[in-house]
Formats: sequence, C-alpha cells, structure tokens
Amino acid sequence: MRRPLVAGNWKMHGSCTSIKQLLSELVDERLPENVEVAVFPGLVHLQTVIAQLADSSIAVGAQDCAVQLEEGALTGETSALQLKDIECSMVLVGHSERRQLQEETDSVICRKFSAAQAAGLIPVLCVGETLAEREAGNAVAVVQRQVDAVLVELGVESLVHAVVAYEPVWAIGTGLTATPEQAQEIHAQIREHVAKYSAEVAKELRILYGGSVKAANAAELFAQADIDGGLVGGASLNAKEFSAICRAA
Ligand code: PGA
Repeated sequence: MRRPLVAGNWKMHGSCTSIKQLLSELVDERLPENVEVAVFPGLVHLQTVIAQLADSSIAVGAQDCAVQLEEGALTGETSALQLKDIECSMVLVGHSERRQLQEETDSVICRKFSAAQAAGLIPVLCVGETLAEREAGNAVAVVQRQVDAVLVELGVESLVHAVVAYEPVWAIGTGLTATPEQAQEIHAQIREHVAKYSAEVAKELRILYGGSVKAANAAELFAQADIDGGLVGGASLNAKEFSAICRAA
C-alpha cells in the first residue's frame, strides 16, 4: 500500500510573522495519521519552520537545490548536503516555474535529483505539460520525456526513494484543475511506463497530482487509483484549507 503524501509548496510567499502564524494554526488542526504531510517553505524560512515543527510529524522540504553536491564557489546556490545538514528531508526538483523562469532543462533537473538522493533527501520530481502541448496531443509524450530524463539516466532504482508530482502547467495557479479522469490517465501512464523497467518500483511509486488542488476537489482527485496525494500551492497557505486537503487523502 502506498502511503498518501500531501505536500504544501509555499513558493515565494510568507514573512516570519505570517509563517509562524500559519504553522501554529496547522499544528492545531486535526491531521490524519495515515497521510504523510510535508511543507516546502522558501529557503530563508526553512530553519525556522524546521525548528517550529520539531515536535510534529510534518516533514519539511526545500523548493530547489544546486546541481552540485559538494560545497564550492557557486554564489547564491544551496546544496542538497546543506539542506540535509539543517534537517530538511525532501526537495522539489523541476517545478514548472523553475523550468520556465530559470530555464531548467531535463538534464539539469536530473543532476539536481541525483544530488538530492546522494545527500539522503527525497526528491519530488515535478513533471507536466503546457496547454499548447496538451492541445497538440503531446501531454503523454512530454511527461514521459520528463520522467525518462531521470529514469533512463539514473535507472529505475532511483525512483525507489523518490516521489513524482504530475502538475499540468495549465492547471497551476489558474483555478483550472485537471478533471480526475484527465489526471488519472496521466498518472496511470506514468506508472505503466515505470513498470516496463520494474513492476515492483512502479507499484510502490507515489505519484502526486498538483494544479489548483483545493478542499473542494481533493477527495475526487485522491480517489483515483493512481493518485497518491497532492502537491498543493495556493491552498497550502491556509491552515484550514490545507488540513482539509490532507484529510481528503
Ligand atoms: P497551485 O500550485 O496549487 O497554486 O495551482 C501547485 C504547484 O505549483 O505546486
């Protein structure tokens, strides 16, 4: 059985004050025990969040890491080892906002994924097609290419201690959610593709859905056979909404 994971991606939101408030509200909420819950604050808030959640079961992850594992002359970068050192447990790699705004390529994302695992972090590999790619009938091909960038390069075993998040770009922050059927189709396709390499790894792999997940649509998305939780942006900034999403998983 795959344990559901609900992850809140706070993106570039929050101040010391607002984050403290959000966390104190969140720990007061009833969070389900059978669901793994994680938050991904911005880099400057990571240590505060880790400290504030020290006695809770909520995991903390970073939104990105450097391609290089060892320390070095890379101004502005943060390595996966440094994240591990402050007791982060996960890291997002290849979020579509970074693919677009930072022009991250599949090969850069693969290196980040590999660095994260080498440091002992769980990478959450984000994949997803744009609206133009979906309309051209290429959604499956694009997602498969993005998964293959890691799967083929690092081998199927690299997906054992990892999570995949399917986030159609057209659904992120737009209020447009993929229908449960649209999401399930891609999730099933990802799992079938991984199964060509290892049925065992495919069966255990957690595949999250992301893109305008909210309390009102979470239950029907999470009810799909191959959807193992969510990567939640906007709605994760509200403790009541986010905890309701966690309870839907
Ligand atoms: P959203 O963002 O829930 O605000 O659409 C999801 C994400 O980008 O991870």
